[in-house]
This record gives sequence, C-alpha cells and structure tokens, in this order.
Amino acid sequence: MNIIDLHCDVLEKLTRLENANFRNDPRLSASLEKLKAGNVKVQVFAIFVHSDIPDNEKFLAAARQIEAFHTKVLCEPEMVHITEWEQLSQLEDGQIGAILSLEGCDCIGEDILKLEHILNAGVKLVGLTWNHENGVAFGTSEDQTKGLKPFAQEVVQLLNKRNILIDVSHLNEQGFFDLLPLANNIIASHSNARGICDHARNLTDRQIKELVRHGGRIHVVFYPPFIENGKESTSIEYLVKHVEHIASLVGIQHIGFGSDFDGMDFSVENLTNSAEYENFIKALLKSFSYEEVLIMAYKGFHKFVKKIDLARE
Ligand SMILES: [Zn+2]
Repeated sequence: MNIIDLHCDVLEKLTRLENANFRNDPRLSASLEKLKAGNVKVQVFAIFVHSDIPDNEKFLAAARQIEAFHTKVLCEPEMVHITEWEQLSQLEDGQIGAILSLEGCDCIGEDILKLEHILNAGVKLVGLTWNHENGVAFGTSEDQTKGLKPFAQEVVQLLNKRNILIDVSHLNEQGFFDLLPLANNIIASHSNARGICDHARNLTDRQIKELVRHGGRIHVVFYPPFIENGKESTSIEYLVKHVEHIASLVGIQHIGFGSDFDGMDFSVENLTNSAEYENFIKALLKSFSYEEVLIMAYKGFHKFVKKIDLARE
C-alpha cells in the first residue's frame, strides 16, 4: 500500500551528521532504501532549525538544509521534487515524491523577504512555530493563552497567496484558534489526540473538530511521548487508539500519517523506521477496512490537495 508521510527530519540529520548519505545511511530512519522498503510514495522533508542555533545563524542553517535537499535527496534518480500538487498523479512506478516543508518560522525573524526566499525553494507546507516563541507566534511549550503576533497577519497573507498549507502541529492553543479564520489551507502534519494522550503537542477534541470544520486534516505522529502519557516506548496498538479516537470525532477521511522519523530520540516498537510502515498498516487493518486504510495512507491527502488546485483555478 502506498503511503504519504507528512513529516521527517532527514534534512536536519543530513546537514549535521558527518558524511551522511540519503540512499542507505544506517543512521537515517527515513533513508531512500527504507522509504522504498516501506512503500512510502511521497515524503515531506522538513526544514527544521534547532532552537539552540543562534538567531543570526538560523536563516543560514535553513539554507543549508535546502541545499542538502538538492545535493543529497533530489540527486537520487528515484526522487521527484513535488512543487505542484498535480505532480502527485504523475509519479511513475519506482519514483518517490519529495516535498519541502518549513517547521517553524524562527529562521525568518520578522523578515517577510526571508520567508519568500524559502518558499521560492519549493516549500509546500509551513508551520508558524516550533515549540518556542518567535516573531510570528507562540509554540506549544509556551503559555497556551498567548495568540498570534501582529507579524503573523503578513505571514499568513503570503502563505494564502502562495497556496501553502499552514501547519498547526507545533502552534499553541490560542495561536491555533487565531489562525483558523485566517488560513486558507490548514493541516496538522504530525500531531495526535489529547483525548488519548494529554500532551501539549497533541490536539484537543475541540481543536480536531474545528480543524476539520475549517477544511483541515490531522496526520498522526509516531513519537511515543505523544502516543502514551509519559512513555518513551509504546506499541503500534496504542497509536491505533489515536486513529480510532480521531476517526470517531471526524471520520477517517481527514486522517493521515506524519511519522517524524529522524526527529525522534524514542520510537514505537516495530515502527522504528520507514521500512516498518507495513506493521502499522497491518495493525490498522484489524480496526479498519482495506479501503479505509488506503484513504488514510494516501488517497485522503491526495484528494485534499486536489481541492486546493481546483480552488486556485
Ligand atoms: Zn515536529
């Protein structure tokens, strides 16, 4: 079964680890070989600039990851850079679609030209924050009652104009509700349900319903502390509980996957890298029909982005 995965941190690792290679580096959880083994047909590659990097070096760090996307990922003949959603329908057997996302606007400061520069590299999803406060908004580690900052208006306007998916996965609660009426295209690329695991990185039932009511979707994340309260290890079955819970709230057609491979220090048993996706699919098939799992794995997101193209025409 083909899979679309909305989040991995391969680019950060490719720029940090010495002599890393995307094809088969054993240090990567979402290397090209592992994506192939797991039938991942489309992978989103996040530009993730760690908060430890000094502010004045963050934009350069983002540029380095974009460079790694070209020189280490796209240089592999199987990889196709998806810059227009219609390209998803054109992927041939053996090809894997590669999408760029920006995980948090920390690297742009309050400079809209920097954001334009990053979008021009072919970025299709943008999150306003990672876990901390930046020039745009407050992340999930911050006070949940603080909303979007004035600069967010300009940022969201540009993202809407460019038909970018605005990612709420690391945004705090008030920022989320401030953003809903402003964003044209909204998504949670890697978040779970707070109804099952009460963690600030997860979405409440109300948030999930409102996200979908505003045309958005939620892609579940494979990080154990976001799956089972306080756990560094958990089972695939526990992750399936999140899918079942979200399905009971909004239906399966709005659910997808966003593993976070290469961005995690812990992993789910038997779901430790992209090659093990089949184990997750098998577990889902115990609770859902083949067609339903197909929708969650691929078809739902594909249909979602087709609508964005139609709205633009
Ligand atoms: Zn993340």
